Amino acid sequence: MIDVLVIGGGNAALCAALTARGAGASVLLLEAAPREWRGGNSMHTRNLRCMHDAPEDVLTETYPEEEFWQDLKKVTGGKTDEALARLAIRHSASVRPWMVKHGVRFQPSLSGTLHLSRTNAFFMGGGKALVNAYYRSALALGVAVRYEAAVQHVELNVEQGVERSGPRFVAAVLESGERIEARTCVLASGGFESNLGWLREAWGTNERGEWPADNFAIRGTRFNQGVLLKDLIAQGADAIGDPTQAHMVAIDARAPLYDGGICTRVDCVSLGIMINREGRRFYDEGEDFWPKRYAIWGRLVALQPGQVAHSVTDAKAVGRFMPPVFRGERAETLDDLARQLGVPEAALLETVRAYNAACRAGTFDHAVLDDCRTEGLSPPKTHWALPIDTPPFFGYTLKPGVTFTYLGLKVDARAAAHFGGVASDNLFVAGEMMAGNVLGQGYTAGVGMTIGTAFGRIAGASAVAALRAAGTPAPPLAHAVPARDHEHA
Ligand SMILES: Cc1cc2nc3c(=O)[nH]c(=O)nc-3n(C[C@H](O)[C@H](O)[C@H](O)COP(=O)(O)OP(=O)(O)OC[C@H]3O[C@@H](n4cnc5c(N)ncnc54)[C@H](O)[C@@H]3O)c2cc1C
Repeated sequence: MIDVLVIGGGNAALCAALTARGAGASVLLLEAAPREWRGGNSMHTRNLRCMHDAPEDVLTETYPEEEFWQDLKKVTGGKTDEALARLAIRHSASVRPWMVKHGVRFQPSLSGTLHLSRTNAFFMGGGKALVNAYYRSALALGVAVRYEAAVQHVELNVEQGVERSGPRFVAAVLESGERIEARTCVLASGGFESNLGWLREAWGTNERGEWPADNFAIRGTRFNQGVLLKDLIAQGADAIGDPTQAHMVAIDARAPLYDGGICTRVDCVSLGIMINREGRRFYDEGEDFWPKRYAIWGRLVALQPGQVAHSVTDAKAVGRFMPPVFRGERAETLDDLARQLGVPEAALLETVRAYNAACRAGTFDHAVLDDCRTEGLSPPKTHWALPIDTPPFFGYTLKPGVTFTYLGLKVDARAAAHFGGVASDNLFVAGEMMAGNVLGQGYTAGVGMTIGTAFGRIAGASAVAALRAAGTPAPPLAHAVPARDHEHA
């Protein structure tokens, strides 16, 4: 029987598989996607947030634990488990050499991605290269991998241990009906962001009678359908988080339904104003640095009529943000821009007039929280408020892009799944599937990979510890036989 069954094929799953295999356990990894689409949302990533007390290779200055924690506390509004958050933060301090050992390479942050060189380590070649490196390393170490192996149901043994340790993992049942037993299991099959029906149900209708989720795009994989999240919750696993909470970004409205990735994100919001389809502003575009705020805009747009908004800038914004994949609308006058965006002309002109009149002169600096702000305007723009007065004018039409959902399974510091408050001793959870323990709401760039890497490794180590506790010593790695990559055509 397999020692550790890992369900999922993204960063968290791979970190768990590599850790368990590195400790000598036999590991089988089941990935729902075909080989060419392996890697879940992780393949779309670019970086992970790391604490460090001194400059280290690609990371500049320092980013101490306390500052990381305060950043997280602020963006989540305190909806976070401090002990688990600090565990992930501390883990981030020492994990990069381990990642390098498994083939990940880092590079300095790109210019145009403001303020991240101090806090975030960028993967050379992005998440796709990271995922490929981990698969290569896993296969070389003898992890068995199966693609197109979507698990439909997790079989638990409720009677045996409910008083002592909560339900135990027994077997995974694949969509094909195949049943795979294992001594321990790590669940790392993502959130439910790809499940349009579930998103629709969670968001329901709004006061205008709209179904907001019908207008969402999914930025990443189509394979995170939340099948096992639902299955485990139905079997009594403790859930954490609100199904409407998610990492949601405002993306180009022309983005595809799935896998648009990062290039559909539009990063000029803090350089201009955001208006809804009625031509009105609805939130402070200059509240904080973009990496700390970009993930609130998807939700803000989701609350607007038609789930649509427009970022409006002028010539001064050009060259100050990373250009997205699609060109925006461009016009020499605001009337023309309003027509191109399909926004009432009079409303847009009045919004820009009121905004321009409220801008107070200051020293513009997009790299600091500068003193260019509005006065007497509601909502205010508290930083980087420059009048929109220099043609050509630009407009991007945006819609909500769901990155990942926060509803997850409750875990402890061993990443163990809980049932009625009691920990299972052989079922562990990592990544998006438990990120809601740390992210009750909000987001700060790079923390998804921090959580997935930390808890992936913790879950892998806990599975090995569980094997040892059960008297199944894992064989030394030297004796391992390299496994085959069970590729499906
Ligand atoms: C466009 C984009 C950019 C991002 N950029 C960053 C970034 O730069 N930094 C950062 O920290 N975070 C980023 N994130 C978030 C990040 O991707 C996630 O936090 C992280 O990848 C989660 O890892 P995971 O392993 O839990 O999930 P995933 O990587 O999504 O992996 C889940 C896996 O489970 C598989 N699966 C699903 N259901 C089943 C099933 N029933 N049976 C078997 N397998 C199943 C899927 O196929 C997939 O392989 C980004 C996300 C997106 C979409």
